[in-house]
Parts: sequence; C-alpha cells; structure tokens
Amino acid sequence: MLEEGTRITMANGQSMNISEIKRGVSVLCSDGSITTVEHISKDVQTTYQILQKTKHRANEGEAGKVDPLRKTVYHRLGFRCTLAHELGLRTASKPILENSFKRNTYKVKWKNLEEMLTFDGRIICIPKTHHKDFSMSFEGRLQATRFMEEKEKEYGVFLEFKIQVRDLDLLEAQIRSNSFLRFNPVLTGNGVLSEYLTGQKHLISPSVLSMAWLLGLWLGDGTTKEPEISVDSLDTGLMEGLIERCRMWGIYPSYKDEQVPLRAKHVKLYFGSEAGENRRTRHLRKNNPFWNTVLNLKFKREMDGEKQVPVFMWSEDLKVREAFLAGLIDSDGYVIKRKEGPDAYKVAVQTIYPSIMNAIVHISRSLGIAVTITTRSARSEMIEGRKVNCHFTYDCTIAGRTPLQNVLSNCRSGHKMRSRPQSVSRDPIYFGFTEEKRGQNTVYSLRTDSGKPILLDNKLAVHACGDHCIEEQAKFTTTKCLKYCIACPRKGVRYFYRDWSGKNRLCGRCYGRYKFSGYRCLSCSYVPEAREVRIAKRRGEELRVASDGTTIGGLICGRCNGILKFDEIRGPRKVIESLSTPLGLVPVVES
Ligand SMILES: [Zn+2]
Ligand SMILES: [Zn+2]
Ligand SMILES: [Zn+2]
Repeated sequence: MLEEGTRITMANGQSMNISEIKRGVSVLCSDGSITTVEHISKDVQTTYQILQKTKHRANEGEAGKVDPLRKTVYHRLGFRCTLAHELGLRTASKPILENSFKRNTYKVKWKNLEEMLTFDGRIICIPKTHHKDFSMSFEGRLQATRFMEEKEKEYGVFLEFKIQVRDLDLLEAQIRSNSFLRFNPVLTGNGVLSEYLTGQKHLISPSVLSMAWLLGLWLGDGTTKEPEISVDSLDTGLMEGLIERCRMWGIYPSYKDEQVPLRAKHVKLYFGSEAGENRRTRHLRKNNPFWNTVLNLKFKREMDGEKQVPVFMWSEDLKVREAFLAGLIDSDGYVIKRKEGPDAYKVAVQTIYPSIMNAIVHISRSLGIAVTITTRSARSEMIEGRKVNCHFTYDCTIAGRTPLQNVLSNCRSGHKMRSRPQSVSRDPIYFGFTEEKRGQNTVYSLRTDSGKPILLDNKLAVHACGDHCIEEQAKFTTTKCLKYCIACPRKGVRYFYRDWSGKNRLCGRCYGRYKFSGYRCLSCSYVPEAREVRIAKRRGEELRVASDGTTIGGLICGRCNGILKFDEIRGPRKVIESLSTPLGLVPVVES
C-alpha cells in the first residue's frame, strides 16, 4: 500500500493524490498503456521511505548549516509504501571472470533467480550469486569463457525481479547495492498548447513548436512587463532563429541600439511588420499572439506578475515539451562536454524561479533524461567589474544521450544546437535507493485492471497492490552487517572502513577525506572537507579544554567548535606504530 500524499499520474497526464482516487478512474502505466482502478482501500500501517541514493551533501558539510534553504535536496526520487508492498527491481547479471590467486584458479561468478523460503514461510524468488572454479591454465581459461557464455545465454545480462520491502534484507549485500528502481519517460501528452493556438489538440505543427520554444526562451531571458527578450548579438544563430520562428506568427523582432551599442540586445517582439492605419507605432502587446499566450495560459502569474511554468506544460505532447525545454536551454542553459562518448550530453540550466526548476525536472524526466538539482545561496559577485547581487539559484543539471540530443536539435543558439539523432531511444532510467522506516501512517491500496506497474507523479514506476500488501505484515529480519559512519549520518552495508581508532567505521566518503587530509574532530568525530580545512586554517589555531580537563590546541572544527586533530599517519595500526617511533622520524604514508 502507498502512503497518503503519494501522487499518481492519471491517464490524461495530470497527477492526483492517492487519497482522492476513486474506483473506475483511469491511470497511466509505466509502459504508456492505460488501466482502470479496480479497487481502493484505506488502512493505517507502518510505512517505509524509499529514497534515491544521490551524491548530494545538503545535510553534511557547511552548505545546509550556513543556508537553511540549502538543506533540502530538491526532487530526490522516492515514495512511501508499506512493508509488504512489492518493488520491481533490476540487477545486472552478466557473468564475470575473476583471478583467484589464493586458490590459483579462474573463478566465474554468475547470478540467477532462485526460490527461497522466508522466516514466515513464504516462497520468494530473488537473485543469488554462484561461482565455479576453473584451473588457471590456457584450457581452464577457455572452459571458463565458454561457461560464461552459456550462463549469459541462459540468464541474460539483467535480472528483473519483484520483492517486498520487508524482504530487501534477504538480498546479498552486493546484489542489494546493485538493485535498481526505475523511472519511465512519458510518450503521450495533453495537447493543451496546440488546442489553445489552433483549436485542435495534438496538432504538432512547426508554428506550435515555435511558440513552445519562444515561451521557453522568454521564461529564461524575457522581461515580464512586455514581450521583450534580451539576446546576445554575437550569437547570430539564436538571433536568426528568433526572427525565423517569430515570423510564423506575424511577429517581427526588432531592437534599437543605445548610443554605444551593447552586446546584449533588448529585442522587442512586435506584432506586424509595420504600423497599422492611423498609428505611429506597431503593436507590441495588443493582439500579439505570443503575448496573448503568455497571459492567457498563465506563463505570467496573475497575483504578482512573476514568471512561472503552468503545470499543464509538464505533461504536454512530447514534441512540445522538447521544444519548450530547448527554449529554456537556449536562454539559460550551458552545454557541457562529456567524456562518456559522443552521444552523451550534459546541460546545466540556472534559474532563480522554483516554478521553472520544477518544470525542468518534470519535463526532463518525462523525456527520459536524468536530472539533479543543486543550489547556490544568495550572494554578491563581481561581473565585469560591477558588483551584482545574485539571488538564491537552482542549478539544474540534465544529462542524457539521444533524448537530450533530440532536445538540443531544437535549439538555435550557436554553441547549444546539435544535430538531430538518427533515432531516439527512450529507455527507463535506473537508480539505486535506500529504505528507511517511518512509523504508522494512513495508507491506500490501489489495484488495477491490468496489474502492470503504474507511474507516480515523479515518473517513478511502482507496482500496484496485491493480496499480500492489504494487511499490515511483520518484518522478521534486520539488515545484515548494517554499518554506521562515525563521522556523518550515512549508513549502509557496503563501502565502510575502519576509523582511526580501529573500533568504529567510516563511510567511503569520510574515509577518503580522512586519508587525504588527515584531519578529524576530537569532539564530534567529523571529518572536514578540504575546503573546510582551508577555512579552519585561515581562522588559525585556538585552545580548548578537552573532556578529561587537559588543554589542547589546534584548528577549530567548523561544525562543533571543537579541536581538529591532525594525524600525520592515518589509520589504526599505524597510529600505534608511530607512538613508538621517535618524533621527526615518522614515516610518511602515501595517500
Ligand atoms: Zn501495496
Ligand atoms: Zn561518513
Ligand atoms: Zn567537531
């Protein structure tokens, strides 16, 4: 069952709180088909938070502490469900070959799905790792390779399996951390823009797409007072594209230069090529089809005149979403080269508007493109010798292959436009996740006609409910070998290392930092980032009274104001060795 507040994508692309969904309505499945809700029921049960693993560090480091706005990780994928709700997961199962030097053999590891009996007597089917040894000889190698090919043919390179949240602990640690949930692109759309412009839904004409692009461009670089967009005059591609695409709507972009021409031109989007009868000037706002769209479809918020992206845009027709996102990229985006191959792209879009950030996230994901949000605090910066006050900014990073290239092919700005890919593969995007207990909450079960996975508002594919998750179920296992980092709130089963005392554990990230810098806090055990060490060094050394009453000096922990200890030699065993070594002769450990 899913927790109250979970938003489900309906057949028409809009989203709805699960508590409002009634029997008989249609919802969208992850494969794009539509299914009817057959049964809905309500209960109070223990729920778990399923959350995407990310590299965000909003809650550690200084970011979240200095600026409370930065504590939030925006648009992290996840949902909340009961213990017995089923997750649809995938894990890689390509057989691998290892050299086992200890036993002098080649070891082939492979995975398959196997039935197992749970403590409460259910039979479940989950992936298991197996291995087989081959002699370390030419012949052994051949046999091993042949064996791998056989296993690959038998089980494929991916295993798809269903598992209840309470059974996740039964997975092997390596399989647990390599099991992925997925989100799906949405290929259908509501056709609102086309209906408004042409009177007909889903009419994907060049003029409709031009309008979508123009709206994106204006949201990025336009003024809210009138139809005006600032364009870099050196970007001839963009200027030409603007003129060409406006022409379809009878709009004529033009600008007047100042006495000293500026590089950024304030281009006004006039309606009509010349002034009408009895008029000295052309229409700017009146009758202007672009400005009418902005106002009537509420791209300008009524209450305060701020820019916004109306929610219908999130679930527009696919091509309209692409053109709109291209407009946003043409104005505020920056295309970064990626090393992963010629078809891998990464685009950074900066915006100060939460509404635009939300739209970028929803639209990117709906196109099958991964997106993450990081933030920057309000600050003042020197730009070309002038002091500029910058607002709190959202940095949206979108990364993908052909789906993103297809978006960029709609761009016109010289360094953002890319050629259209020969074909676009819109596959689901897979991600790792953690699960955490939340306590008792109101939950709803949702059963559908087809029983296929359904789509949440955030495009995550989740299973509909079954008999197994209607009632509260007990959990009999605890996570095996769950380890806690002594320096940060992280916990997990893999990638944990011994700390300086040898008694506790450090997570991979803290361990890496400690190995590199050697600093750790004596009172809160925090391992500062390199940047935090620099700040502490700038502040200088101070004296503190330790818990045993002695006075110690050193750099100050930015987190708890305690003393940062510097270990010239890192790690537990070596610390003991160094005590017996005369000072000054301490061997340096390479990091
Ligand atoms: Zn359920
Ligand atoms: Zn840590
Ligand atoms: Zn501290």
